[in-house]
Amino acid sequence: MSTMPILPNYINGQWCTSTNATEYLDVINPATAEILAQVPLSPASEVNQAVAAAVAAFATWRRTPPTERVQYLFKLKNLLEEDFADLARTITRECGKTLAESQGEMRRAIENVEVACGIPMMMQGTNLEDIAKGIDEMMIRQPLGVAAVICPFNFPGMIPFWFLPYAIATGNTYIVKPSEKVPLTMQKIFHLLDKTGLPKGVINLVNGGKEAVDAILDHPQIKAISFVGSTPVAKYIYSRAAANGKRVQCQGGAKNPLIVLPDADIEMTTRIAADSAFGCAGQRCLAASIAITVADARNSFTEAIAATAKNRVVGNGLDKGVEMGPVIDVRSKTRIEGLIQQGVEEGANLLVDGRKAQISGYEQGNFIRPTILENVNPAGEIARTEIFGPVLSLIHLDSIEDAIALVNSGQYGNMACLFTSSGAAARKFRYEAEAGNIGINIGVAAPMAFFPFSGWKESFFGDLHGQSHHAVEFFTQTKVVVERWPSNWSRQF
Ligand code: NAD
Repeated sequence: MSTMPILPNYINGQWCTSTNATEYLDVINPATAEILAQVPLSPASEVNQAVAAAVAAFATWRRTPPTERVQYLFKLKNLLEEDFADLARTITRECGKTLAESQGEMRRAIENVEVACGIPMMMQGTNLEDIAKGIDEMMIRQPLGVAAVICPFNFPGMIPFWFLPYAIATGNTYIVKPSEKVPLTMQKIFHLLDKTGLPKGVINLVNGGKEAVDAILDHPQIKAISFVGSTPVAKYIYSRAAANGKRVQCQGGAKNPLIVLPDADIEMTTRIAADSAFGCAGQRCLAASIAITVADARNSFTEAIAATAKNRVVGNGLDKGVEMGPVIDVRSKTRIEGLIQQGVEEGANLLVDGRKAQISGYEQGNFIRPTILENVNPAGEIARTEIFGPVLSLIHLDSIEDAIALVNSGQYGNMACLFTSSGAAARKFRYEAEAGNIGINIGVAAPMAFFPFSGWKESFFGDLHGQSHHAVEFFTQTKVVVERWPSNWSRQF
């Protein structure tokens, strides 16, 4: 029997141990293999308790003026700043990315709190006097009720914040289901949410896996669901939640291409492309996975990116000087190494082989060094499958037209990037590329909190995205009121 702490849920303003979980998973530091805690796979009954608390809280919370609701977010912003260093360390310990990457992640989380503090402006409706003589019409936004988010492992601090601040600022009550692989960061953040004094039931945390997710999808009193994760699960969640009549937005997987034109600044392009492909060990939904070199860009970029990949410092993300951490778990490492082998079998040249990485002092960690496959078959599995590891595939083509055609032939549409010094080429690419987030001389085109986090094709299911005005629209329903107040009625003056 493990002596590890079992992580509690947070329901109705109380920390509570899952009493009915039948299974507990180890939370493992991917750099050291140290077991950090145990997470319960909470059953449906505990999701139901969270929903009941959220339903009860909604009655009062929706009547709390938006100006008062955002006061809790101002407090949260300050608490997140105070605990910034600790939160970043927690992300690195459970998720593996470098401390600098974790700090960047928390900065993005806080940015969403800051934007949601503007809800008294952002939630406003519209109106028009005299749509007919003496008749006025207005459109107001009202909250939906209880909403929930189901999160992936790769950004345990940031991704819940694409939704949570907007959900509660607009008057909804909320349930967070973190990834069972990285539940520690949300534990810490819920301690801070608790400190803000938010009324009980407004925010709830339920740890779990599939059973908890299915309970969320089927619960008649949950009105809206946000999901971020892999595409097969996104499709499942989108269809099941929609069939249950819920509002739903699902962000899925990706296979992000970047194009390098011959007129690109190769030194800058290489640095940015390496950060995109190998940052967070390739476990970003906005990681570059394919680099398409056009014409003469081929030799210079190939040589430079290979050298950069070989020199990248890999290790425990908490250690100074480390530029890339491990992948999340052993299963993931085995899968990624299998895909590298498959690339070779499909005819690619393994220019830089990052398998069999041994990091001194961290022999149990899930490390793969940066890997580059050259001459990847554009029609093969490796050019199509999301690898979600530090692997960059190189494909050489003769024209920008061919490169854009290849970009647009993929099933995903999360991000596409172009490196060039030509404004005309940049405009052509921005206009024609089929992806929701476009980078021009940018390798990770992650929208700031005041823009929606877009995504097209099989990278997104729904219409309204996370962050900014899209989040405000997602978490509110519009009501249109048409009024007539004849001037001769009940006049007292
Ligand atoms: P995942 O799909 O395995 O898990 C995501 C969540 O779904 C977890 O909370 C998990 O408990 C739950 N889940 C998993 N299988 C389920 C099932 N069968 N039924 C019900 N629930 C289930 O994703 P992951 O491995 O945690 O995250 C990596 C994926 O997320 C990658 O594909 C990545 O591209 C994607 N991602 C996308 C974005 C984006 O903005 N598009 C952002 C981050 C991550």
